[in-house]
Amino acid sequence: MTRTTCAYCGVGCGVVATPAADGLRIEGDPDHPANFGRLCSKGAALGETVGLEDRLLHPMVEGARATWDEAMGRAAGGFADTIAAHGPDSVAFYVSGQLLTEDYYVVNKLAKGFVGTANIDTNSRLCMASTVAGHRRAFGADTVPGLYADLEEADVVVLVGSNLAWCHPVLFQRLRAAKDARPGMRVVNVDPRRTATSEIADLDLRVAPGGDAALFARLLAHLHEAGAVDAGWVLGHVAGFDAALDAARAAPGETGLSAADLGAFLSLWTRTEKVVTVFGQGVNQSARGTDTVSAIINCHLATGRIGRPGMGPLSVTGQPNAMGGREVGGLSNTLACHLSLTEPAHRYAVRAFWDAPAMPEADGPKAVEMFERVADGTIRAIWIACTNPAVSLPGSGAVRAALEACPLVVVQDVTARTDTARLAHVLLPALAWGEKDGTVTNSDRCISRQRAVLPPPGEARADWAIFAELAARLGHGPAFDYRGPAQVFREHAALSGVAAALGSDFDISALAALTDAAYDALAPVHWPVTGARSGGRFFGDGRFLTPDGRARMHPVRAGAAAPAGAPLRLNTGRVRDQWHTMTRSGAAARLSAHTAEPFLEIHPADAAARDIAPASIVEVSGAGGTALLRALVTDRVRPGDAFAPIHWSGETSARACVSALVPPVTDPVSGQPASKSARVEARAWPARWFAFAVSMARPDPEALPGAYWARARVGAGWQTELAGLDPVGDWEGAARALLGLPDAELSAVGDAARGRHRLAFRRDGALAGALFVSPEPVALQRAHVAALLGEAGSPLAGRPAGDVPDPGPTVCACLGVGSVAIAACGARTVEAAGAATGAGTSCGSCRPEIAAILAAQVRLEAAE
Ligand code: SF4
Repeated sequence: MTRTTCAYCGVGCGVVATPAADGLRIEGDPDHPANFGRLCSKGAALGETVGLEDRLLHPMVEGARATWDEAMGRAAGGFADTIAAHGPDSVAFYVSGQLLTEDYYVVNKLAKGFVGTANIDTNSRLCMASTVAGHRRAFGADTVPGLYADLEEADVVVLVGSNLAWCHPVLFQRLRAAKDARPGMRVVNVDPRRTATSEIADLDLRVAPGGDAALFARLLAHLHEAGAVDAGWVLGHVAGFDAALDAARAAPGETGLSAADLGAFLSLWTRTEKVVTVFGQGVNQSARGTDTVSAIINCHLATGRIGRPGMGPLSVTGQPNAMGGREVGGLSNTLACHLSLTEPAHRYAVRAFWDAPAMPEADGPKAVEMFERVADGTIRAIWIACTNPAVSLPGSGAVRAALEACPLVVVQDVTARTDTARLAHVLLPALAWGEKDGTVTNSDRCISRQRAVLPPPGEARADWAIFAELAARLGHGPAFDYRGPAQVFREHAALSGVAAALGSDFDISALAALTDAAYDALAPVHWPVTGARSGGRFFGDGRFLTPDGRARMHPVRAGAAAPAGAPLRLNTGRVRDQWHTMTRSGAAARLSAHTAEPFLEIHPADAAARDIAPASIVEVSGAGGTALLRALVTDRVRPGDAFAPIHWSGETSARACVSALVPPVTDPVSGQPASKSARVEARAWPARWFAFAVSMARPDPEALPGAYWARARVGAGWQTELAGLDPVGDWEGAARALLGLPDAELSAVGDAARGRHRLAFRRDGALAGALFVSPEPVALQRAHVAALLGEAGSPLAGRPAGDVPDPGPTVCACLGVGSVAIAACGARTVEAAGAATGAGTSCGSCRPEIAAILAAQVRLEAAE
């Protein structure tokens, strides 16, 4: 049994992993302060993602297997030659919030202190850079003031741009439990889109896209009018109040809310002292993200509602170690331990501590700009660690082109099956979750150990060790001669003491003398960790980290009108059970059961205007490309808005990489891309046929050129959705090529004249694959067909024999319960539905959807 930490979101749940006959048994750690034993569907399925299929197990150079010496010779040699010929700013590192703090520390030290470049940025830029900028602007440091426990102590919790139920599910579970225990607690949800989080909201505000900054500007003005500003606190601890209030009064912008909704929000926030404002990607991923963060913080500063139990702004981060990356200075405009590259005293101190030969004096390029420099040839060699920018960065088509033209692309990752890895000259195998050893920091400053449960597979190495070897090959071996992650951690902790002497908030110097054994046994701990203090909240005493100790309110005015463009505004985000580009979560069949296909949510009026039918295929065109997505016609989105998930890549779909639709527009302060406001158009894609396939082997959809496809894992193999424009003359031949079954025994039924075909292929009497073709979207019980893979039964009926009802699309992935079964179970509460069907009784991630299904069923029955 090993106590470790979940690999996915910034909640940072503690996990107990126990080797079992079929892999790893995963349970929530009851003693971890982030989750107290809870897990969501993704965390609960971690044990299903640790297999070695698709793992990169040895280095590759130019597509051929190589030794570590050969691969590092090419990679490090290429970096050294490039630096020698073109200077340190001709190389770059693009790293990841998936790295552990020790990995992050080593690569940041190497880049900034020894290569001498600030050309290091991280995919956390896409996740929470606007929060970092907003924190630094207001507090003088990137400090999260509060704790998760504030969610339980608050009387009002406001969720802004955060589908907490799906993106931070265990925090949502904690909030749900707190509200159940204290029904007087009020929850406000501020989001342009109706989401699973709406289920908990007492006030569910369909704010206009970008209207969140206006909402908090209006709140600031209202607080003043209502006499709710804490004048004494402001006088003693805050600067910039008058300018911020003037801006809020003069030009707050439009919220898109009715007067009644706006009034209810203003009144509730104003009269409640214990209020926590949680904000997520909807705030951060905006061209005004930093200003929106400021608008939120302004209201907390004006009322002194910060740093005390049950009150304050709380940013929820997307990645498991986004916070650790912030601590080590993993962004191109930060230095280690929350110090600043552009501050001479900080530079000198860190350089002296590292005994570093070089230190850039200016901030480096932020992620989007970094890849623009790759495109224009300024950066000639790039080292990408554990991230997939060819899919995740906006303007992904241009990013791919830049990498294709770059003279040297090195990728270290756990798999070669990514769009980015396919563009690499050198591939280096890294350790995955379950094999890695180090620490991560979650969204409320809790440092937790991630411990190895499994041995290193093949020739894979720890990320910090790969960076240390690169350092040695670049001539800096003595400064990177680490024996293990504990030594890296101690150095980082010792540096934090130096930083604290310069006024930094990040101080874990009391951990600088940990023995290896104590590091191994380290229990979750909130920073700061000093001789005088451990954990707790910041700023409750009114002392901030600016030179004069006063917080800064920033004047936030209405943004410029949205630029004209295509008629639909595309919001992007996540689905409940997938993570990033699915390189890990996509390995678990049960996580694909909830949402197996990319989709576009489009309002019924917008769909009707474009002749887009439910479940048809739509072609979405944006600034940098097009995507093919399944139409999900729903009033969850407002007219004129659309939504698409970010997870699908060239590995899992024909053309569903939505970042190709998003232009590289960024927040001017934080450099964070505005990923939720692309202008797009959608049109019906005139498919002549639709198909659904299951197969034991990974299907090859390129056997049907030009087709729409999306593939996902199911229990014993794969399922694939397809559609096409061109008629197919030989469906048997196409199916054999698609499913990789040239010789399997065929049984078939159908009506060729009507374009209907059902083909089943067997090997040794067991179903090895099946294809169902129809001129309209294929209707059958997919879970039933998939469950027959490897079995003797026939799938051709497309449904079970007898009068077995279709359970509907999977809602509870843990127990495989569908929406129809939940609606029909006769229950009126989530608990009763759980008792009747089992749904929601395992990890609980589906409970908001169960509640929504039951509510809809009640409305339906009342209308009948
Ligand atoms: Fe992992 Fe879910 Fe916890 Fe996030 S909420 S850390 S994904 S178990």
